[in-house]
Amino acid sequence: MYYRDTWAEIDLDRIQHNVSRIKQHSGFEHLYAVVKANAYGHGDVEVARAALEAGADMLSVAFLDEALHLRRAIKDVPILVMGAIRPSDLAVAAEMDIDVTAHDLQWIEAALCYEGKPVNLHLKVDTGMHRIGMTDAESVRQACELIDSHSQLNRVGLFTHFATADAQTRAGYDAQMQQLERLTAEVDLSTFRYVHLSNSAALLRFGVQSGANTGRLGISMYGLPPSHDFELPFELEQAFSLHSRITQVKTLEAGSAVSYGGTFVADEPVRIGVIPIGYADGWLRYHQGRSVEIHGKRYPIVGRICMDQCMIQIDDSVQVGDQVDLLNDNLRVEHAARDLKTISYEIVCSISDRVPRVYK
Ligand code: PLP
Repeated sequence: MYYRDTWAEIDLDRIQHNVSRIKQHSGFEHLYAVVKANAYGHGDVEVARAALEAGADMLSVAFLDEALHLRRAIKDVPILVMGAIRPSDLAVAAEMDIDVTAHDLQWIEAALCYEGKPVNLHLKVDTGMHRIGMTDAESVRQACELIDSHSQLNRVGLFTHFATADAQTRAGYDAQMQQLERLTAEVDLSTFRYVHLSNSAALLRFGVQSGANTGRLGISMYGLPPSHDFELPFELEQAFSLHSRITQVKTLEAGSAVSYGGTFVADEPVRIGVIPIGYADGWLRYHQGRSVEIHGKRYPIVGRICMDQCMIQIDDSVQVGDQVDLLNDNLRVEHAARDLKTISYEIVCSISDRVPRVYK
């Protein structure tokens, strides 16, 4: 039960459509549904269940806390923490059956002190993103040897992450693939149960790489393109929409200013509608001047966006209680991202927990 007239609607059928279409297109045997950051703002447990039904067979997140939250709701599927956990938290991960990332030798040496229920490790190799991961072949070889020497540590996966798989040209992707070959020259990839390299962009563009059998699907599962720099092989279905309702309507005289700082001044009598969404909901001040939709017609956001409310310039057809769409199939997340000079990821991740998620 919610007591405010602002909500995000998440279309799980669309998520399922995207998952099954991308899985089929990419040809990977296994697929992680990447549901970190509360499934990019869509709701982790709901999205995870939908994605698993549609053909994903594993889940991945950034942090151990996220994995534990999922594990309490979803049993019997592998959940991987792709970020670095503290070695001292290995017992917690193992207890809850969470797979973790081994990202450098120092971490692995600390993990050798672990004595408890066996835990699954995925080696992270840094092929060019230069975030976490091992950067030389000797470390990768030693990492395998050290892990294999410890009966409580299972070496189940190897992965890397692409920095530019969504770029106009594939040069950066190719360079990372070559670096992967160098870094894994001393190890036998077939000794890993899961080798996973591809994010959404690589899944959509580059197919199954030799030695790999698993993909990690994030942004495109939600129906959003990773970037505008390459053409999608097929249309994705945006699952996220954002709505509110008019709380008050007023007519202002010419010369009246709206909201903090008085940045909008009416040059003639205007009708203003107030809606209960603001920057504390993730509807950031940068949206000022962009449009919303009411009954399919566009109206501009005028004046500064407040913490909990904002104002739109409306016409006589708009009444208190009317639904206002802030993101929908016309007001697409990727367009908002372009207008705000950011990426779709940031638009959906920014919509805060204060906004109820409603599923259909
Ligand atoms: N793998 C890792 C390690 C990531 O950090 C992410 C997301 O940033 C993904 C996969 C999924 O990427 P995308 O959302 O572009 O599919």
